[in-house]
Amino acid sequence: MSFVEVAIKVPLQRTFDYKVNEQLTTVLQPGMRVMVPFGSQKKVAVVLAIKTSTHIASDKIKPISAIIDNAPILNTQHLALLKFASRYYCYPLGETIHIALPAALRQGQCPDKTSISMLALTEKGAKLPSLKAKTQLNLLKQLAQSGKSSLTELKALGFNKKTIDSLVSKELLSQTIEHDNQWQNKPPTIAAKPTLNKEQAVACSAINQATGFTSFLLEGVTGSGKTEVYLQCLETVLKRGHQALVLVPEIGLTPQTVNRFRRRFPDTPIMLWHSALTDNERLQTWRFCEKGSCAIVIGTRSSIFLPFLELGMIIVDEEHDSSFKQQDTLRYHARDLAAYRAYQQQIPLILGSATPALETLHRAITDKYKLLTLTERAQTSTDNQFKLLDMKGQPEQAGIAQASLAYMRQHLARGKQVMVFLNRRGFSPTLICHECGWLSECTRCSTSATFHKAIGQMICHHCGEQQPVPRQCPDCGSTQIFPNGKGTEQIEEFLSAEFTDVPISRIDRDSTRLKGSLEKALNDINQGGARILVGTQMLAKGHHFADVSLVVILDVDSGLYSCDFRATEHLAQLVTQVAGRAGRSGEPGQVLLQTHFPEHPLLQDLVNNGYQDFARFALTEREEAQLPPFTNMAIVRAESHNIKHVIDFLTDLVPVGNVSGIQLLGPIPAPLERIAGKYRFQLHIQALERSFLHQYLAQLVDYLSTNKLAQKVRWSLDVDPIDM
Ligand code: ADP
Ligand code: ZN
Ligand code: ZN
Repeated sequence: MSFVEVAIKVPLQRTFDYKVNEQLTTVLQPGMRVMVPFGSQKKVAVVLAIKTSTHIASDKIKPISAIIDNAPILNTQHLALLKFASRYYCYPLGETIHIALPAALRQGQCPDKTSISMLALTEKGAKLPSLKAKTQLNLLKQLAQSGKSSLTELKALGFNKKTIDSLVSKELLSQTIEHDNQWQNKPPTIAAKPTLNKEQAVACSAINQATGFTSFLLEGVTGSGKTEVYLQCLETVLKRGHQALVLVPEIGLTPQTVNRFRRRFPDTPIMLWHSALTDNERLQTWRFCEKGSCAIVIGTRSSIFLPFLELGMIIVDEEHDSSFKQQDTLRYHARDLAAYRAYQQQIPLILGSATPALETLHRAITDKYKLLTLTERAQTSTDNQFKLLDMKGQPEQAGIAQASLAYMRQHLARGKQVMVFLNRRGFSPTLICHECGWLSECTRCSTSATFHKAIGQMICHHCGEQQPVPRQCPDCGSTQIFPNGKGTEQIEEFLSAEFTDVPISRIDRDSTRLKGSLEKALNDINQGGARILVGTQMLAKGHHFADVSLVVILDVDSGLYSCDFRATEHLAQLVTQVAGRAGRSGEPGQVLLQTHFPEHPLLQDLVNNGYQDFARFALTEREEAQLPPFTNMAIVRAESHNIKHVIDFLTDLVPVGNVSGIQLLGPIPAPLERIAGKYRFQLHIQALERSFLHQYLAQLVDYLSTNKLAQKVRWSLDVDPIDM
């Protein structure tokens, strides 16, 4: 008799054995899907191994029901990646595989996708004829930028099928169906490109000469030409006929980025991967990748699980970005899995950032990663001027100092654009009663309810609960209730009144809810429409604004004093990233930081010496305090409506296992102790040695699988957490 060991999507940290007919073992291979009986159901399972023995009693073991695939859908290396992710993040293998697969494959179907329809301008269309319909003209302009785009991408930009069809019927657009593209067999066309400066050339040649697995940290200020380095390294990869994966933060996947890659490699198949794709589109990209029909994927974090026929390089742009870490289910970090994958394939990994994560920087300083630096902006040699604006005693309106307003006027008068940054959306974070001091709170969370004036709602930013805006104080009945604190909506309202003839554009999650609205706003900004840009961190990342010469950062102080030891790192990254939006057009940009603590050593270091210096100093502090990256960390989080269940569950874990080399802290309340009515506590686990941590976690997971208290709470395990 023969047996197969399979993974099934169930919330259990174990695999399952089934028996198979002897003859079938010649066709069965790891990575193929089979149907198996599971309880009273039939489930899709993925074969992990074919074995000749099992520990299950012969009268208990069931046969598989059917074989689904003729060939593995996951090859050996891909399976190894998923097993590693499952083990490392302590998440069931069946569920891990489920997360990686496109929906159709999860469900046991085997559809193939062999073609993709792309749109491009015809010769007539390329002349950009004047058209009455503005959206039609915009669509032509978009295609002039990208060369070609898929139907999906155009829809994501807010163009509808009708617009597209009408342009096709006017013969301004042509639709082509791309098949199994044989791009590997001919050298890629490379469009005109700049000559690299010395630092870029050094970086490129180091990367191009790398053999086997090498990790590079490309540390370079915004605008120093990191993307240009990626592009020129990709050239080499493409010429070898290898594929490449470019991971970008969620917010960084803009048409600007994609257009730049498409323009450089006009006949190379480039596909996108992000959360807005439909199931069908995901399957399409998956199939194209595994056949090698797609040369470059530009994708957000989950693209790390795509199958590649012959992967030649992985690039992680803005590697410090927190969107690379998944914050639920399989809590993986795409950058760290990228390192595993590059090691597995023995290929180069490039991590690029103006503000590297301290973890990454530590690896570079200790020579695990090769450090490549770009110190100069590619197109200008000017640095931004930082200024700490002391808010103590400063007259202010809507949180903006008079002095800041004066600077804004100067820059606007010179025809420049000005950016005002505040990382809080809505009109005000609370309402306050002038009579009794009542503050608006979410009824289900230990946090405030944010006042959204434009839509007349109070919204909780943690659980999403909406309530109408109260007319009277619910405690004392007074009608004297006012906005308390500032959000971007209020800043926009104030600035519109202050600068009546200056067009203002606000960019935050509220103003960009509609499909294509972010792209539209960004376009508008780049064409010079808006002169003042108000926004949250959506404005901070990846966008190129040519004309911004002044950036005002309103609330620096909230990041200086926080219970999260990473808060200062994040603040420094944010300030540097926001500041990077200024001064791209040749003249130095000016960056104003409004603070009540201008003498704070962190701010001083950041402003006078830059992120590089700050980060190296911050690392010495982390070392003294024995915090990551000098120690390894995991958090067990638990929540329930019943506070006792949560505390009992976590307290019970404290003595579990062999705790030598392990430090436990907790149970302690989560930073937000209650969300959506549930109490939240956590247990911190630290170990100087990673192997100790993982040994301990393995015992913990084992214990939890049979623990009765665990069934009364919702718990999760977060390995290498990036927030507390
Ligand atoms: P980063 O990715 O570091 O923000 P980019 O690669 O986007 O920097 O470069 C910033 C700008 O400088 C872009 O417009 C790019 O085309 C241009 N650029 C980059 N490298 C060079 C170079 N060697 N010569 C001229 N222009 C360059
Ligand atoms: Zn009151
Ligand atoms: Zn809430």
